[in-house]
Amino acid sequence: MTSKALQSFLNEHIKDLKERGLYNEIDPIEGANGPVINIDGKSKINLSSNNYLGLATNDQLKEAAKAAVDSHGAGAGAVRTINGTMDLHLELEKKLAEFKGTEAVISYQSGFNCNMAAISAVMDKNDAILSDELNHASIIDGCRLSRAKILRFNHSDMSDLRTKAKEAVESGDYNKVMIITDGVFSMDGDIAELPEIVKIAEEFDLITYVDDAHGSGVLGKGAGTVKHFGLQKKIDFQMGTLSKAIGVIGGYVAGRTELIDWLKVRSRPFLFSTAVSPADAAASTKAVDLLMESTDLNDKLWDNSHYLKDGLRKLGFDIGNSETPITPCIIGDEKDTQTFSKRLYEEGIYAKSIVFPTVPKGKGRVRNMPTAAHTKEMLDDALAAYEKIGKELGII
Ligand SMILES: *Cc1c(COP(=O)(O)O)cnc(C)c1O
Repeated sequence: MTSKALQSFLNEHIKDLKERGLYNEIDPIEGANGPVINIDGKSKINLSSNNYLGLATNDQLKEAAKAAVDSHGAGAGAVRTINGTMDLHLELEKKLAEFKGTEAVISYQSGFNCNMAAISAVMDKNDAILSDELNHASIIDGCRLSRAKILRFNHSDMSDLRTKAKEAVESGDYNKVMIITDGVFSMDGDIAELPEIVKIAEEFDLITYVDDAHGSGVLGKGAGTVKHFGLQKKIDFQMGTLSKAIGVIGGYVAGRTELIDWLKVRSRPFLFSTAVSPADAAASTKAVDLLMESTDLNDKLWDNSHYLKDGLRKLGFDIGNSETPITPCIIGDEKDTQTFSKRLYEEGIYAKSIVFPTVPKGKGRVRNMPTAAHTKEMLDDALAAYEKIGKELGII
């Protein structure tokens, strides 16, 4: 029997979301998540994935995954600390450390999980965390879990950060103070001001934590935002995900040996949740190998993103101030934004609308994620649809 309280809670809240147009209907994809996807029996050019380099469907990754299933089985069998650490997990960590230019790496089951794990392993209720107001949900949850005092600073506002860092340190209320930021902000595609953040951190002895989910594989010829600025020796935690540009699943922290050793004995998702499967670990290692061997995929990603951005700009669209392949096409009004995305879908282009409260009111946008796997023809088709619908709705 279902609880009446639960039933009325669900009825009321689902109805409310539907009435406000905030209830997300999920479209199932038939087959792989590549540059073209099938939904409802129809193919769509996919501009909505985080599969920046097209590695999710890369043949060499698929071969590596299949070989690992044959040699190591379907599952890891246990939590890493009990007996789920396989040579494949260690190989992945060694490879990632090389790639990131740090002493060591610890890997987790997801990027989300990694932020839940790593922040609270180091920070506690006697500490404070300076957090950019646009940080990802997993950072916010990870900070909350630590029970440290959360001090939000205005988005990429270095003078606000400096003021709040000074206040926190000089108050004497906290044992440790951390500054935490996304490397690349996923809604606008702007890059965190890491050189300035490092300066402030050095001035006030702050712990530095960069979540580079959208920077790894993209910036710094693939090695990420920290490498992009040449700050590998200056950032304490370089967190990354294996699920976006790397194309598989998992998360990791790269840093100094003592830090990684501590996380291995103190971070709860590492201690109490089973490791990623052998296939995941082997495919991720293969992906990092490919990125270290050649920048071809990274070059193709940037080439495609410049092509799409130039095309949209020439058509007269407002594409914001993105510094990365993330390409928001700002429509403004929430309803128009949703109509735009729906019309794109009908024209065979899959690009999602993002509206308030995810972005500020009146800043509704269709977000486009070009990848290395798109062809120029696909991008031309997308631009033709943008032109048609932009004129139809009187936006250009
Ligand atoms: C996607 C994302 C994550 C979560 O990564 P997963 O591996 O998908 O769990 C964490 N942080 C940021 C900034 C992200 O964009």
